[in-house]
Amino acid sequence: MTTQPPQQSKQSNDSLLLALATGLAQADSQDAMFQLVAAYTRANIVAERASICLLDGYAGQTFSVVSLAGTAVTIPHGTTFPLQDSLINKVVSARQPRIWRLSEQTELDARALLENGVVAAFNTPILCADQVYGTINIGYLDYPDESDSPSHELLTSLAELLGSQLARIKANEQLEREVASNKRHIGKLERLHELETELARATNLDGVIRTLSKTVADLIGAKRVSFAKLGPNPGESTVFGIHGMKGLAAGTVIATGDHTSTETKQTKDLPKAELDEVRLRYTPDHRTSDNPIHQKLLASGVMSSMNLGIFVHEQVIGTLNVGSASVDGISAADQALALALASFMSSTMQRLDTQAELMFAAHHDHLTGLVRRTLFDSYLDLAIQVAVAEQRTVEQGPIAALCFIDVDRFKLVNDLEGHVAGDELLRDIGARIERSIGSAGTPSRLGADEFIALLHPDTAANHQAICREVTAAIADVPFISNGRAFSSSVSIGLSFLTELSASGAEALASAEAACHTSKLLGGNRVSIESMDDESQAVRRTAASWITRIKEALRYDEFVLYAQPIRPLSDQGTASVEVLIRLAGPNGSIIPPDRFIPIAEQYGLIGNIDTWVATNALDAMRKAMDQQDAGGPDAPECMFINLSVNSISSEGFFEELLEVVDQSRVPTNRIVFEITETGTMHNFELALEFVNRMRVLGPRFALDDFGVGLSSLGYLRRLGVDFLKIDGSLVKDIGRDPIKSTMVAAIKSMADALDIRTIAEHIETDEDLAVLRTIGVDNVQGYFVGHPAPIERTLQLAPVEANVVVPLNQPTSAHVAAPLRAT
Ligand code: C2E
Ligand code: CA
Ligand code: CA
Repeated sequence: MTTQPPQQSKQSNDSLLLALATGLAQADSQDAMFQLVAAYTRANIVAERASICLLDGYAGQTFSVVSLAGTAVTIPHGTTFPLQDSLINKVVSARQPRIWRLSEQTELDARALLENGVVAAFNTPILCADQVYGTINIGYLDYPDESDSPSHELLTSLAELLGSQLARIKANEQLEREVASNKRHIGKLERLHELETELARATNLDGVIRTLSKTVADLIGAKRVSFAKLGPNPGESTVFGIHGMKGLAAGTVIATGDHTSTETKQTKDLPKAELDEVRLRYTPDHRTSDNPIHQKLLASGVMSSMNLGIFVHEQVIGTLNVGSASVDGISAADQALALALASFMSSTMQRLDTQAELMFAAHHDHLTGLVRRTLFDSYLDLAIQVAVAEQRTVEQGPIAALCFIDVDRFKLVNDLEGHVAGDELLRDIGARIERSIGSAGTPSRLGADEFIALLHPDTAANHQAICREVTAAIADVPFISNGRAFSSSVSIGLSFLTELSASGAEALASAEAACHTSKLLGGNRVSIESMDDESQAVRRTAASWITRIKEALRYDEFVLYAQPIRPLSDQGTASVEVLIRLAGPNGSIIPPDRFIPIAEQYGLIGNIDTWVATNALDAMRKAMDQQDAGGPDAPECMFINLSVNSISSEGFFEELLEVVDQSRVPTNRIVFEITETGTMHNFELALEFVNRMRVLGPRFALDDFGVGLSSLGYLRRLGVDFLKIDGSLVKDIGRDPIKSTMVAAIKSMADALDIRTIAEHIETDEDLAVLRTIGVDNVQGYFVGHPAPIERTLQLAPVEANVVVPLNQPTSAHVAAPLRAT
């Protein structure tokens, strides 16, 4: 597969989608809209080629191609095809999205795509009210698999959104033509433009009605204007007042009689005469009508009226009604204006509808319809904030709870019955979970066959009861697939949100652990997180570490150490690796192993890494200035550790780049260390980070190398500059022939890839001697130089005059040796 899901976070996807909808509603030309759609497509739907085919509005015999993305293999922008006998025509006539295997198609456009290497195509119609404007298309160089269906859904919604906005532009153009031919209407044109802009800002039906009420009297001479929205029951409409409501009060529910036949039908299925009737029905004299509504209007002095259909996704949703005080009181010009108002209203209503659908799709899992993680996480965070603020405990409830639900032996179903049955099962399980929980909480789909649910504050016993209902709802009634019945069950883990809950991630981990217990006990049961003293203590410790780390960041209580990395040749200047510590009570120093893992788990590591980079590069700059002024040599390079969690978090790249820029340290003297294991787990993200950063100058070292899983292929793709051979392979290498063979193998692999090697944790001269025979490039370890406060290793002049640094007494391991070899 070459089409990949976008790497963006859900959050930014949502805001992009909203920005697109708003942008489209405000764009004032077709081209401006296409540009917006193109930008969105390029950023969010990774496709080999994407285009819009636009039907020729005049002759109706051709369509032309507007390219959106992937121009390299596209049919050129602007190419015109005959509509007859084309794939596009099929999609346009069917008014349905289609996916084609092009080798099986004979149409002209299909053949043109095949010649360009496109083997499959997805087309979805752009339509609004009863008009089709064209299609949005995606071309594939490989056959897409099912995982593309979410992006196809997205494209279909996008096409609907675009349709509604093209309808708006067309209605506007039509009006301008009419008004231009009739100078008297010039003031109305201005009002109409205002109306259009205001409608673009409307976020619901009330807003639409309010906007229309402000403008309508300036546009058409009418006694009353209303909107009759179909519903609440079939055959009924509800009246919304827009202007001078004589006759039928707003809020009245009326029987719509003749509209019942149209409300469920698509416009394309309606006979032409009936469609015309829905679009515009003019009754010039109510006295001659036997329609009860007309009679009612007549009684309050409304003599003639006009009803205009409002359409969303080709379906009638109601009528815009204009009534006049005189017989045949609505002039041809006013009819034209009212028709324009109705199109504006249709396109706005369709935009609102599609927007709501898109937001729903963005927040809901497409298989089960349950809310997605992003939305769920925000609910969870909120529940935790409440639990902490109100100091809830299990004993002193009510408490919210998190349940982790895992389908037992799901893989088996998937393997034996196939993916389709597997999907069906998940959909069914999702529905049963939702039904069992009801208003007691919010379920969400976590991963393939895992669900989570946030349960509203209640007693622990009630939470357990709900979980047992879930297990029963799933285990007691068999599932049906392909006419065969089979049983399934789930394992559930329950954790409570209390004053000790540190984060959503932690609550989830406890619930997952409890679920694991359920699995171990044979599945189809509920287990509760362990509440023993030990796990409580762990929570307490984690919580207090988080506070401590945040304080240390705020008050600069971290301390930097640096350890030399020397060229084995003993020639040239040493580099240093920067290592963080935390200032503890009474001058003690807390090592990173105590707080880095917690910082990684609770999302604080990015801040730490930025803090380290800022302060380390600042020290480097000082060392370089000092050297320029005739002082000791600054390190050749500065090695800075980055956590893989940092480099895969949004915005970290930009932040780090800013730090590098601000420091004025030449980028070729900066090396970032990332661990081999972390990198392999997040390979694509790490690769992107390394690629983007390396072109700007900084280099990369793969840390703790040799204990992870990387293969030659990965190493070649990643393109790092240094391998740091893990200490466990180096320690005692002088006495362990297996280790020396391994290190020698790493060395020759690195040579083949033109990567420099660094052996770490060298503690004895014996080990150093073996490494010398193997020929590693650089060495680091207690034997070569201990980590020491960075000012000391870099021999920086103390900031405070009363601090004495024993520069020329190399008695302690913590005293810096000069970085330049003598
Ligand atoms: P690391 O990157 O592998 O760092 C090398 C560790 O080995 C350091 O431990 C260092 O003090 C220790 N070491 C150096 N020479 C020898 C030796 O000869 N023998 C032995 N046994 N150990 C030696 P430290 O400073 O406790 O750091 C532990 C880990 O914490 C680091 O492992 C690194 O993964 C992480 N860390 C340290 N500073 C940072 C930082 O600024 N950011 C991030 N993300 N992680 C950091
Ligand atoms: Ca390191
Ligand atoms: Ca290391």
